[in-house]
Amino acid sequence: MQEYVKGKPIFTSINSINKQYQYLTEDLETDVVIVGGGVTGSICSYYMSKNNIKSVQIEKGRIAHGSTSVTTSLLQYELDENASDLTESINPKDIVRAYELGLYALKEIEKFVDEHGNKCDYIKRDTLLYTAKKLEKNSIEEEYKFRKENGFDVEYIEESSNPYGFNLKAGLLSKEGGAEIDPYKYTNHLLEVSMKNGALVYENTEAEKIEYLNDGVIVHTSYGYKIKAKKLIVATGYNTRLFTNKNFGTKYNTFNIATKPVKEIRGWKEGVLIRDNSDPYNYLRTTKDNRLIIGGEDVEFKEIENKDMASEKYSILEQRLKSMFKDINDIEIEYKYCGCFETTKDNLGYIGPDKKHNNLWYCLGYGANGILFAILGAMMLSKLYYNEKDEDMRLFNVDRFDN
Ligand SMILES: Cc1cc2nc3c(=O)[nH]c(=O)nc-3n(C[C@H](O)[C@H](O)[C@H](O)COP(=O)(O)OP(=O)(O)OC[C@H]3O[C@@H](n4cnc5c(N)ncnc54)[C@H](O)[C@@H]3O)c2cc1C
Repeated sequence: MQEYVKGKPIFTSINSINKQYQYLTEDLETDVVIVGGGVTGSICSYYMSKNNIKSVQIEKGRIAHGSTSVTTSLLQYELDENASDLTESINPKDIVRAYELGLYALKEIEKFVDEHGNKCDYIKRDTLLYTAKKLEKNSIEEEYKFRKENGFDVEYIEESSNPYGFNLKAGLLSKEGGAEIDPYKYTNHLLEVSMKNGALVYENTEAEKIEYLNDGVIVHTSYGYKIKAKKLIVATGYNTRLFTNKNFGTKYNTFNIATKPVKEIRGWKEGVLIRDNSDPYNYLRTTKDNRLIIGGEDVEFKEIENKDMASEKYSILEQRLKSMFKDINDIEIEYKYCGCFETTKDNLGYIGPDKKHNNLWYCLGYGANGILFAILGAMMLSKLYYNEKDEDMRLFNVDRFDN
């Protein structure tokens, strides 16, 4: 268990095959070294190997046991906040582009599953943004209009035509606007494919010191072995201190509970991915084996150590789940866990080179769309390796908030 995660996460617990990787026992030279063995680093390994770029990925603990072990893995093209709440930090045209890129990243996951098989319980889903408060109807309607006018496949749901079992005053349904996966299985499958294509992956191998050269980097790892590479991709999630003192965003702690499999999922039409319009919001999904997951109740990150607060939050989430789905009468909570996540002013992550060290590149999926941003990042960085700059990388520029 790592410093940014607490409790007993569902995905590393329900998967009986806990895959192990070797640790580094020799010096290596490669094109790209990827530091971080979560879903982001593994997506980077996949896209590097797909584009014939030699890579070595290292993880200080175990692969997929950081934030990746607790992510709810709701994959949605929309951002954390509604477009109208974001206009101070990002212009509407760029919000539309970010939504389009989210849809593009979703298609990439589908392509991976089509090409290599569905070993990660991938299911394409509609997504629902809703409110149970009359006062927030306008906000949902405004977001609906914004998306409709910009060509997204959305439907407005009135209280009178609510097809769900829970109280809804207004809703915005995005057709095929999302997907769900098992993040532990997905990460390991990405690595299985990448390693077949020549990628090298090591766990229990920490990057301890970085030496910056004119033509690359040398990563000094635990036990003394070195990796020389032309580029280094930082995929360390919410811990970037080894590389920079920069504060990229604001850290929060978010809470999740997951039930035992229930007999029948009533009142939850077609396993839609659900998010409410509250601040902070609640988010819900089902799993392939009929479990229900609800998350939210975010607090400042420092509260991660506060056990009393955690049990209070888990209990609020349990009550909310039970009151939303009164017709499911065998709800029994099996997993309770929480973890760090980081948001940015414009809800977008960071992709691209460091200002000072041009061989140091970031792929940081901050915001609620971490996994989708990681896909975009890995694709953009594999192009950048060949000196081809992706136009959309400007949206994720590492220095965009610097004065
Ligand atoms: C409760 C919760 C729910 C979430 N729900 C969603 C969601 O629904 N959808 C979504 O897209 N995102 C969600 N997120 C965010 C999500 O967790 C991330 O998008 C994603 O899992 C991050 O993966 P990562 O690989 O970037 O980070 P991590 O999985 O944390 O991987 C980074 C890895 O880097 C390693 N590392 C750090 N320093 C070093 C070093 N010096 N040397 C070697 N290795 C190092 C760490 O050990 C760690 O394993 C959620 C987060 C939480 C906490």
